[in-house]
Amino acid sequence: MAQEKYDLVVLGGGISGYSAAIRAAQLDKKVAIVEKSQLGGTCLHNGCIPTKSFLKSADTYQLIQHAEDYGISTSTPTFNFQKVQERKQRIVASMYSGLQMLIKQKKIDVFNGTGRLLGPSIFSPQSGTVSVTYEDGQSELLTNDYVLIATGSSPATLPFLPIDHQRIVTSDDLLAMTTLPNSIAIIGAGVIGLEFASFFSQIGVEVHVIEAADKIRINDSEAVSQQLQQSLSKRGVTFHTGVALSEDNVKVTDDAVTFELDDTITADMALVAIGRRANIADIGLSNTEVVVTEQQTIETNDYMQTKAPHIYASGDVIGQLQLAHVGAKEGVIAVEHMFQQVPIAIDYALMPRCIYTTPEVAAIGLSAEAAKVQGYDVKTVKAAFQTNGKAMIMSPGTPEGFAELIVDQADGSIIGASLIGQNVTEQINELSVLQFLNGSALELGMATHAHPSMAELLMELGLKYEKQAIHL
Ligand SMILES: Cc1cc2nc3c(=O)[nH]c(=O)nc-3n(C[C@H](O)[C@H](O)[C@H](O)COP(=O)(O)OP(=O)(O)OC[C@H]3O[C@@H](n4cnc5c(N)ncnc54)[C@H](O)[C@@H]3O)c2cc1C
Repeated sequence: MAQEKYDLVVLGGGISGYSAAIRAAQLDKKVAIVEKSQLGGTCLHNGCIPTKSFLKSADTYQLIQHAEDYGISTSTPTFNFQKVQERKQRIVASMYSGLQMLIKQKKIDVFNGTGRLLGPSIFSPQSGTVSVTYEDGQSELLTNDYVLIATGSSPATLPFLPIDHQRIVTSDDLLAMTTLPNSIAIIGAGVIGLEFASFFSQIGVEVHVIEAADKIRINDSEAVSQQLQQSLSKRGVTFHTGVALSEDNVKVTDDAVTFELDDTITADMALVAIGRRANIADIGLSNTEVVVTEQQTIETNDYMQTKAPHIYASGDVIGQLQLAHVGAKEGVIAVEHMFQQVPIAIDYALMPRCIYTTPEVAAIGLSAEAAKVQGYDVKTVKAAFQTNGKAMIMSPGTPEGFAELIVDQADGSIIGASLIGQNVTEQINELSVLQFLNGSALELGMATHAHPSMAELLMELGLKYEKQAIHL
């Protein structure tokens, strides 16, 4: 039976979809979310939140092992993985129930089934009516004025190494595991691969990272990539770069995975972390005017509108920066555009990009290398965290890492920043605000920062550009 018509039907209840739905509800629109699994999607259940909970436990375990550096004697700590899992589950469950409450308060209807877009029909002269199919085979139609496709992404796989969830696994499998492996091979030195490399190495699991490129390359900055590789190597991660994997050099047996590279690597399991593919199959795109790119993502304009003007798409499915806060921003922009709120077009240069390894990595805007390619006349100002008092207090031993600001010499504006070190995923937000306001190095330097704080290093860098730094 056809439901009452919705102003907006959102396909997919991940962070992009639910953020969009909430924004539409704030605009007094009648909104539905169709979600085939759980509201919150990848970020809440299989991504950002559970991985960061694991990483915090591993970091705490390491910190206790370094307790002597802080003048504290302890007995040898034990990493109780079952309790680590339980803590992660508690955090996810608490945030999940908060989200469900929020959606209910906003009077957003949630349809727990699989959604698919239909072509024009007697119910609706335009494409985009959403058919929802439930587990019991029942289905219903949701007619609407607008649709937002926010179906997210799934792990990409290697044809010669099928996922068996035991030996060959995805990040989803690792987050659900009940026992730890003794050794793991991680295929792909991207954000997900490196975060798991950091986690496992910190708790004493033997880690091999296998990467096709000849060096690791994250967030564009050469210097940061090198430092991260060095820091993870120091913690026991072995990197194998420039490796072309094929069915000829990998063998999976009942109890191990073996890689014949320059050396033979044998590991209990292998994580395939080579990127994520947009979920565009079986959602009825061929019934609409929506265009799919060569990369198999949905094409949109800067306001997330597809070639079918009443159908928008946001989040991982459009394949820009596959990050939670970016998906949320895209979803909100989509809704504001469809309901004539005149949003500012998305600017991906203003989106912070973080990696929650130890040490953490954060960047925004352009790296020095990318800025030069784009024709900017830039100056890079850089300083190590070991010059910062709070970093000295926080770290066991000498603090790792540095911060660099990329300044446009034409007008002194900050066009990029790359940071590696403790807690930099918090510090980057200051630079996000600054860049949003077109801030300059001088303004960053003139704004008084609390002492002692790690962000003082950013203030000093602003002053350094103006040749006024006190401590550098
Ligand atoms: C291990 C890991 C760690 C990560 N860590 C971070 C991090 O620290 N910070 C960060 O910014 N990003 C992180 N990400 C990326 C982040 O999780 C994604 O960018 C974000 O979740 C994308 O949100 P989305 O709403 O576009 O898609 P999703 O969250 O994937 O949501 C899509 C939803 O659509 C539903 N769906 C799909 N098809 C249909 C259909 N036909 N009908 C109904 N429902 C459907 C799915 O069930 C899903 O719930 C991480 C990702 C992973 C895998």
